[in-house]
Amino acid sequence: MKLEGSCHCGKVRFAVQSAHPYPFNLCYCSICRKTAGGGGFAINLGGDYSTLDVRGPDHVSVYSATIVDEKSGEPGRSPAQRSFCAHCGTALWVWDPRWPELVHPFASAIDTELPVPPERTHLMLASKATWVQICNGPDDKLFDGYPDESIAAWHARHGV
Ligand SMILES: [Zn+2]
Ligand SMILES: [Zn+2]
Repeated sequence: MKLEGSCHCGKVRFAVQSAHPYPFNLCYCSICRKTAGGGGFAINLGGDYSTLDVRGPDHVSVYSATIVDEKSGEPGRSPAQRSFCAHCGTALWVWDPRWPELVHPFASAIDTELPVPPERTHLMLASKATWVQICNGPDDKLFDGYPDESIAAWHARHGV
């Protein structure tokens, strides 16, 4: 389906084709919850990067987080590029050069009505803020780190 999104001030609008539009993937990592998750998590969707059409690209800023390497303990720049509106701060999408064909728009920036997921995945719970209570349904899956299936695999399992 085609997803249309925008920032709050309206200077940035975008459209992207998505085969994986269910907002089921709740990420509680420190970066998502600070930059895009007022409720303690952010929700990423799966889109086709080659179809990403941006109106107002001059208003888009990119943030790449500094993360400490687990093995070496050295801080390094995350390759993931988080795009946001330079005026109103709305988190827009994440693009990672390690998976260049994909783009992950934040569900919060999407204006198209999204399908309601039958179950959800809660990931990066080891990084969760202590005050956040996980509101999980009976079939939801919980992970301390990365989940055991990709966004695409989740959609395939549900036949959507
Ligand atoms: Zn804006
Ligand atoms: Zn995250």
